[in-house]
Amino acid sequence: MSDALTSLTIAQAAAKLAAGETSSVELTDAHIAAMEAHRDLNAFITETPDLARARAAESDARRASGDARGPLDGIPIAMKDLFCTEGVLTTAASHILDGFTPTYESTVSRKLREVGTVMLGKANLDEFAMGSANVTSYYGPVKSPWKAADGKDRVPGGSSGGSATAVAANIAMAATGTDTGGSIRQPAAFCGIVGLKPTYGRCSRWGIVAFASSLDQAGPMTKTVEDAAIMLSAMAGYDPMDSTSADKPVPDFAAALTGDIKGLKVGIPIEYRVEGMPYEIEEAWQKGVEWLKDQGAEIVEVSLPHTKYALPTYYIVAPAEASSNLARYDGVRYGLRVEGGDLTEMYEATRGEGFGAEVRRRVLIGAYVLSAGYYDAYYLKAQKLRTLILRDFTDAFDKVDVLLTPTAPSAAFAIGEKMDDPVAMYLNDVFAVPASLAGLPAISVPGGLSSEGLPLGLHLIGRAFDEETVLRAGQALETAAGFTARPAGF
Ligand code: GLN
Repeated sequence: MSDALTSLTIAQAAAKLAAGETSSVELTDAHIAAMEAHRDLNAFITETPDLARARAAESDARRASGDARGPLDGIPIAMKDLFCTEGVLTTAASHILDGFTPTYESTVSRKLREVGTVMLGKANLDEFAMGSANVTSYYGPVKSPWKAADGKDRVPGGSSGGSATAVAANIAMAATGTDTGGSIRQPAAFCGIVGLKPTYGRCSRWGIVAFASSLDQAGPMTKTVEDAAIMLSAMAGYDPMDSTSADKPVPDFAAALTGDIKGLKVGIPIEYRVEGMPYEIEEAWQKGVEWLKDQGAEIVEVSLPHTKYALPTYYIVAPAEASSNLARYDGVRYGLRVEGGDLTEMYEATRGEGFGAEVRRRVLIGAYVLSAGYYDAYYLKAQKLRTLILRDFTDAFDKVDVLLTPTAPSAAFAIGEKMDDPVAMYLNDVFAVPASLAGLPAISVPGGLSSEGLPLGLHLIGRAFDEETVLRAGQALETAAGFTARPAGF
């Protein structure tokens, strides 16, 4: 019974709740049991079962009195531990935020709470969301529920690795993620789930621990495209507390899922054929092309000539913003303090001990590219390239409605691999970062399995604020792919 409950999608569970066939308490208990049974995956930093049961009971009471709040009322979800949650420890997976319990709720988590979702706990991630494998967390790596034939544990991707694992392992019905340069889409691809990065400005960043403010964006991680649409409708919307949040109406995204993509113009960027990419990625991409064509889409080759500069541009802009955002962790205002002889020593000791190696690397790179002598050569040049990358997309979207690419250049690798080679790790983001730099919406949908039996993702990028087309085309891929594979034992 409880296995059946944890395998439901949001849409299915909402129907059962509405029909009185299950209760939120029942659903929540089944998911708490799964969370406890799979602690070895390390998907959560903080579990909140008591809070979850209390919110589930409130949801059931609302429903009993005819006040249910829509499809998310009573649905158990995981919250990436980058969202500040009132009264619940918020760590960003960093030692430096030890003991930080916010007195306020981030806008996105508040919105999700207001529509009745039940938070199961705070999901593990890469420290300050910096990483592509969830191996930089102070709280230890997250394991993917998927195993390849060699039996070695796989990374879930990052930085939203705990969120992806929780959804893929049927521990949470859905999860929140954040995406700065791929952190929703790449883990979704590695774990065989759906991940949507909305347009920059679609969801409020207020109350989300900042990594790179001009790139950070919250979004849903779900089992299906329909569930992503349902979650996004609840998460999105203008927020006066975030000056970059867009004052645009929020459509009913699920209503956009008409199943009809006839005449849709799908662009295939020729520059995304990167050297050394495994053949099976190329093959999965080609299948995606055929699936969309079969459903009436028109395929058009397009050129995004500045693609090769996206990764270096991202790895200048993101660390620059991170070094400035992370300046606030000084041992005075939040979390950890390591005493020193004087104030400066205290700052140094706190930051030296509080930040892990990857975060320190980013702060160093960021401070370097922003420093007086190098600002023009690196940061300013990266800003100019960012404009050119955006222009590539603007030109492409004169001709097409959506772009199709692979999500990542490989399937999930083993835990421990690439850890001594930051550049190899950064290469994971090669297909994800251009859309991040341009602020465009993009989705990853499971497209099949690799030769080792691991999920591969297909990636669609859309016009700014046109999540509806991205979702509609995403569902067309989902339907054609018919991806029903499950990690063994889950
Ligand atoms: N993997 C990328 C990085 O390490 C993206 C992270 C993210 O999107 N938060 O910066």
